[in-house]
Amino acid sequence: MCAIFGIVDHHEASSLCYLGLHSLQHRGQEGAGIVSTDGSEPFAYRKKGHVSEVFSSGTLHRLKGTAAIGHTRYSTTGANTMANLQPLLMKSGLGWVAVSHNGNLINAPTITANLEKQGSIFQSTNDTEVIIHLMARSGQQEISEALIHALKLVEGAYSLLVLSRESLIAVRDPYGFRPLITGTLNGSRVFASESCAFDLIGAKYEREIEPGEMMIVPFNRPKGLKSLFPFEKKERKRCVFEYIYLARPDSLLFGENVHEMRKALGRKLAKEQPAPDAEVVLPVPDSGVAAAIGFAEESKIPFDMGIIRSHYIGRTFIEPRQSTRDVGVRLKLNAVGPTLKNKSIVVVDDSVVRGTTSRKIMKMLREAGARKIHFRVSAPPTTHSCFYGIDTPTRQELLASSSAIEAVRQFIGCDTIGYLSLEGLMEVAENKAGKGFCHACFSGKYPTESTG
Ligand code: 5GP
Ligand code: MG
Repeated sequence: MCAIFGIVDHHEASSLCYLGLHSLQHRGQEGAGIVSTDGSEPFAYRKKGHVSEVFSSGTLHRLKGTAAIGHTRYSTTGANTMANLQPLLMKSGLGWVAVSHNGNLINAPTITANLEKQGSIFQSTNDTEVIIHLMARSGQQEISEALIHALKLVEGAYSLLVLSRESLIAVRDPYGFRPLITGTLNGSRVFASESCAFDLIGAKYEREIEPGEMMIVPFNRPKGLKSLFPFEKKERKRCVFEYIYLARPDSLLFGENVHEMRKALGRKLAKEQPAPDAEVVLPVPDSGVAAAIGFAEESKIPFDMGIIRSHYIGRTFIEPRQSTRDVGVRLKLNAVGPTLKNKSIVVVDDSVVRGTTSRKIMKMLREAGARKIHFRVSAPPTTHSCFYGIDTPTRQELLASSSAIEAVRQFIGCDTIGYLSLEGLMEVAENKAGKGFCHACFSGKYPTESTG
């Protein structure tokens, strides 16, 4: 998962892009970058680290021009190296092209291997580079035509922003796995993964880029934008995990507010998996808070904070090394003794992946004096890896992929465990946001023919 942001026709394009990326930091913390242009040259800056550390006023000043695209990276395909940071910027017969990509291309390894056999030289191990190579080889003269040609050859998830000398192009794959929205800021056109980026800069939300849609904003006529649907139509398959965990609660995502969706999932969870003898509902912060509020509302059991999260470290799960993750959990969460001592408690979290965090939390809560722990999860068991842009571990590492529910309970160390059912999840999501979700991580039903 990554964040993308873009703006056309604004004299402070790179600064606004920086702010947009800042508010999308939760979607990727490994590195960030911006490419801007004045309509002739590209100006680029990319570095590892959080948005606020990556850019200084000096670097933003050097990112000149009235159009810019940005990216925050969370590695799915390719290692966490400089060369893999985005926006990717490359030059070919088409001129220079910069690309920000959220998603994951399933057939990138096959395409890369074929192109390498024919002599292509790849600079990164990033699946996104495949798009630029395919564009360069398309034989097309127009950037948009070259992009359409390239995207017809790739399979998988992409929300893309493509910047060139003449235009900014926004595209969402025909399934619409990852979000992408557009709006305006005093007449300038803006794009972002989530609406919280628009809130920060005062931009007006207009609509989602539709699955399969390509929007072209030419620099010489920024208001004369074009919208095309150049791909074969597919049934939309928006990522339901965006609602469960990935997106920021204040965002409008797939047309619905994320916090309200999570509360509704919590209410459904309380109906499906009640814990009648519990005296208090405690969220695992921050991701479990909204679902716990919903659970408390529905069950009429009081809500309280029994776990406090330190906000001075990032989402440790994202860091690729197991050793740092273990330290991270201990650094990150601590129990509030009085809210749970000698009590029967319901602990609500949004999802269980490896189970290692949850296990440590249960141990911590017991040490703090909890008498009985009912663990409730506002998603179904995560049983399958995602190939569409979320860094879920391999199936072997997913606790629920091989263990029966009782074994999961024992491993995590709670007294009872209850997950939201897939049917329950779908009912809530579809009621609010309509049909058309990918739930492969819970069901193994991958919408595309090939997987990883
Ligand atoms: P586990 O017990 O499986 O080790 O960790 C569960 C926690 O991981 C939950 O609180 C959930 O919010 C979080 N989580 C689920 N998916 C992701 C992800 O893709 N990235 C990060 N950073 N955390 C995740
Ligand atoms: Mg969490």
